[in-house]
Amino acid sequence: MLALEKALPAGSVLLEETERHRYGSDAWQAHAMPDAVVLAKSTADVVTVLKLATQHRVPVTARGAGRGYVGGCVPERGGIVLSLEKMKRVLELNTIDGVARVQPGVITASFQERVKARGWFYPPDPASRAECSLGGNVATNAGGPRCLKYGVTRPYVLGLEVVLADGTVARVGGRTHKNKTGFDLVGMFVGAEGLLGIVTEMTLRLIPQPRARAGIAATFPRPEQAAAAVNAIFAAGFLPAAMEMADAFTLAAAREHLGAQRVPPGKAHLLVEVDGSATATRVDIREMQRILKACGSTAVRLAPSEAACEALWETRRLFSASLKARGLTKMNEDITVPRSRLVDLFKFAQTLEKKHGFPVACFGHAGDGNIHVNIMIPKNITEGDPRIQRALDDLFTRVLSWGGAITGEHGIGLAKLPWWEQATSPAVRELHARLKKALDPDGLLNPGKFV
Ligand SMILES: Cc1cc2nc3c(=O)[nH]c(=O)nc-3n(C[C@H](O)[C@H](O)[C@H](O)COP(=O)(O)OP(=O)(O)OC[C@H]3O[C@@H](n4cnc5c(N)ncnc54)[C@H](O)[C@@H]3O)c2cc1C
Repeated sequence: MLALEKALPAGSVLLEETERHRYGSDAWQAHAMPDAVVLAKSTADVVTVLKLATQHRVPVTARGAGRGYVGGCVPERGGIVLSLEKMKRVLELNTIDGVARVQPGVITASFQERVKARGWFYPPDPASRAECSLGGNVATNAGGPRCLKYGVTRPYVLGLEVVLADGTVARVGGRTHKNKTGFDLVGMFVGAEGLLGIVTEMTLRLIPQPRARAGIAATFPRPEQAAAAVNAIFAAGFLPAAMEMADAFTLAAAREHLGAQRVPPGKAHLLVEVDGSATATRVDIREMQRILKACGSTAVRLAPSEAACEALWETRRLFSASLKARGLTKMNEDITVPRSRLVDLFKFAQTLEKKHGFPVACFGHAGDGNIHVNIMIPKNITEGDPRIQRALDDLFTRVLSWGGAITGEHGIGLAKLPWWEQATSPAVRELHARLKKALDPDGLLNPGKFV
């Protein structure tokens, strides 16, 4: 570690045990102790770290803001945690080109606010956006509610500067909205969870900020009716910005935590947001009101302005806190199912609950089938308990049998590692292994993860 201290600017290397401990985990349960933490301030620092790591065969695990949900930045094999948190400059914000160049440590929400202040829009909106970094979003291909209409992080990444394991700096992609020069190398690094290279700069695509937003919230006596409403809205020709659904357990927790006046009676809740011109959004939610009522909704609340829409979202965002207020540990699984399986999923959650004895709460992005299935664990049961693993086994096996995915947003990291093999074919695993070998032959980048 002496070599690192000599080669990097003063104060960049943390060796104290308490400091190293702080960099050993994210928002999931796992922890591993790094031997050193480097706070990189430039691409040159990252190059120095990777050259030394290659020379001495030391593992390097990239870290953004450490708000991942799957233990992705946990340094499973020790070595160096390479934190990008100090690289947090917006290098360019060009609204004529619809492009921003940013360093990886920029916090997502602060970037979105800067872009919005110029009348422009960067849509990917993970719920953690006030805390997570753009570099972490790129490395996990993060998504959120608005991704129904606007897509996840990938379509907003035009170019990347990446430092490879041997210290080579590669600039892939570019700064134009279309570019078909060679392979899609940008796509290869987006979602790679720090296994193929360290992202040190991103060129992001911006689009004009929609002029208005409006929303509608509806409760239904049965989840099947809410799921049917999702399909009816699409069938009527709408592509809302977001469509969020919640189940009876979540609603009961929200009523208890927030009061009955904020969450009307019913066993399923649907929140729909549209954006565009002020007139169009108001007309759209009126038409949707008719659709929701025809599908059996017993209470509909219209939010015709941005402020009213935000008030609906505030309730939706408090669902998670309401569940936590029940005094149980929430294990959040971000599975995705084909939309035709939404009702089956909500029913299956009840089967899981009966079979394994843990309450299960489902809510999330119904529009794209990405539902957060929360297994609620009593505090006296540890998260590694085999009963939890069995419940997760059942959940993932069923989701895969429907043609779904074990993770729609959070990534594999350590949390989903036990199901990586089940979720992929031998040919796909071999392809991952070949790519990894080509880019990181000594396996130094984020070892102990899915490749
Ligand atoms: C309360 C809560 C809500 C969440 N909601 C959502 C949500 O709605 N949608 C969603 O998609 N996710 C969500 N997440 C998960 C998480 O916030 C995202 O995965 C986010 O993108 C992580 O960013 P980060 O900066 O914290 O990354 P970290 O946790 O620091 O790292 C995540 C992964 O990226 C790698 N990495 C980080 N920076 C780089 C880099 N510069 N170069 C190469 N690799 C790098 C790390 O090695 C690791 O594998 C949520 C998490 C929490 C705690």
